[in-house]
Amino acid sequence: MFALAPARSVAAQQVPQQVAKRAIPGLDASAMDPTVRPGDDFYRYANGAWDRRTQIPPELGSFGSFNIAAKKADADVAEIVHRAATANAPAGTDIRKVADFYHAFLDTAAIATRGTAPIRPLLDSIAALGSKQDLARFIGAHLRADVDPINNGVLHTDNLFGLWVAQDFNHPGQNVASLLQGGVAMPDRTYYLDASPRMAQVRAQYRTHVARMLALAGVASADAKADAIVALETRIAEAHWKLEDSEDPSKGNNHWARADFTRNAPGFDWPAFFAAAQLSHEDSLVAWQPSAITGIAALVGSQPLASWAALLAYHAIEDHAAVLPPTLDREAFAFFGKTIGGAEAQDSRDRRAVAATSDALGFVVGKQYVERYFPPAAKANAQRMVAGLITAFEHRIDALSWMASSTKAEAKAKLQTLRVSIGYPDKWPSYAALVVVPRDAYGNADRVTRFTYARSIAELRKPVDHDMWVMTPQTVNAVNMPAMNALNFPAAILQPPFFDATRADAMNYGGIGAVIGHEISHSFDNLGAAFDSKGRMRNWWTPSDFAHFKASTHALALQYDSYHPLPDLAINGQQTLSENIADLAGITAAYDAFHASLGRRPAPEVGGLTGDQQLFLSFAQIWRTKFREPALRRQLLTNGHSPGPWRALTVRNLDAWYSAFGVRPGEKLYLGPGERVRIW
Ligand SMILES: [Zn+2]
Repeated sequence: MFALAPARSVAAQQVPQQVAKRAIPGLDASAMDPTVRPGDDFYRYANGAWDRRTQIPPELGSFGSFNIAAKKADADVAEIVHRAATANAPAGTDIRKVADFYHAFLDTAAIATRGTAPIRPLLDSIAALGSKQDLARFIGAHLRADVDPINNGVLHTDNLFGLWVAQDFNHPGQNVASLLQGGVAMPDRTYYLDASPRMAQVRAQYRTHVARMLALAGVASADAKADAIVALETRIAEAHWKLEDSEDPSKGNNHWARADFTRNAPGFDWPAFFAAAQLSHEDSLVAWQPSAITGIAALVGSQPLASWAALLAYHAIEDHAAVLPPTLDREAFAFFGKTIGGAEAQDSRDRRAVAATSDALGFVVGKQYVERYFPPAAKANAQRMVAGLITAFEHRIDALSWMASSTKAEAKAKLQTLRVSIGYPDKWPSYAALVVVPRDAYGNADRVTRFTYARSIAELRKPVDHDMWVMTPQTVNAVNMPAMNALNFPAAILQPPFFDATRADAMNYGGIGAVIGHEISHSFDNLGAAFDSKGRMRNWWTPSDFAHFKASTHALALQYDSYHPLPDLAINGQQTLSENIADLAGITAAYDAFHASLGRRPAPEVGGLTGDQQLFLSFAQIWRTKFREPALRRQLLTNGHSPGPWRALTVRNLDAWYSAFGVRPGEKLYLGPGERVRIW
């Protein structure tokens, strides 16, 4: 499809003059900066004026297209929750659970009146821990299903370990329990270990924050305990794996027999832990970060019980801050919301109550959401685009000159068995076992985490559920589950600026089409490429194909390593590699699918723009994001995704972008044909 020789160029300055004068129905022409040449900074060309005029709302650390789409979804969800809140539904029904959860969370006066009484029993049980065996039992009893390294990419928990129950990479028909590293409250080991002045400053603020939280909760010797907690967390962080390693399923897939934990990770009473966690019947578990699990276990053995008790108490208080008195809630926000997250003001209690309810009873709210706000036509539209994108991908695989036919056959088998689920799950999860108590915000929060844990543990005794959804329909996002070879496209992402049935197709291909292509291609990124069509972790590549794939992906990692969003911090090309491959393959497949959809007709011009210009501009506009410094730093350090503005620059690897905007050698984003990374 892409010729190496440059196609007919459009003079670069032609496009800006056009867009400066007229509207482009379906795109935000007023967002563009016509003084920037597309080839110098395509993000700013598409979004520069928006960037200058946009203020990040005080309750957020960053703001972009996902927030713009979420604005409508959040308003819809608020209406659903508010309606349930006044419906007076019979006790025990799902709608009544929504109402009771929301009211209890909202009622800060009642929360303030109860003070720290709700958390007292938990703090007392921590204070009563008399031995390292008690400690292991406590940690097991409070293990939560709160991580997910490869679907949602949740790698952080402040519990000492996190549990993930999912399809076994070695035996795809069954589920397995994975244990992940945890134990630190700040988002990643770098916050504890990075030597930069900025991080040293964050750490000083953190130490003060920990002491304040303890004091506000009435814990004695808060200052001395804060020192011990930060010191212990720092030791834990030293044992932790880096994010780029934790993200890699081939490094994480370590099956340990349950009995081997004691031998491989001495210092921790594993039998007591497994019994309390209801995991004693598992013959083997996955130790996702083996050396970290060994390191943490050794610290349990070597560090004083009193330090561990202080750490557990602090984490318990921090985790429950939202449902404890406002002084604690505000202090938690001051550090985690402001210093770490970059927000300036806390969101309203009502909006937080709606969000907490939508998290806790996600698929109850989600079912209402799709019934009210997701028309069948939207699903049909998305299904048509998915089919087009899959075909485009298939043609790309066929056309790859470097790939052997045996590798192609397995790649195509993966495409053919891909399970694509749009809008909402076919089967709705049951919330029958979840008890929601009126006026008990603290208890409700705890019951939800226990309910989620019980549901995960129950999955261990069942065959893999291929219809399972890992995102709620009201989430503005999409996900590929690489081992399951399955995609979820929640209803809430099928709206502007990603999708709008009334605008030109080119814009939808550059928007939701690129998102669909992104998710499909995760099955073929550096992680997806490790699983075969059955979900087994297996190298299905010929050695020379895999070497070619590695070389191309390495070139892409280097490209992103060269971007410096902050003066002292670059994008980590390895940490973001999977997402960057998916962006590149996604826009490439979307471009192909758009052209295939045209048949032999020319693309209609809109606002003086060609079809290709519309497609690439739409792509750049879905990545518009503004950051405050802490939020940008956190994303760079703790996230697998490159920040939005740099994702827009993916286009510099596509020949069609050069011809669409007349990009020439010497312009800042220009790459010679041989330097453009082509993976799929
Ligand atoms: Zn992705």
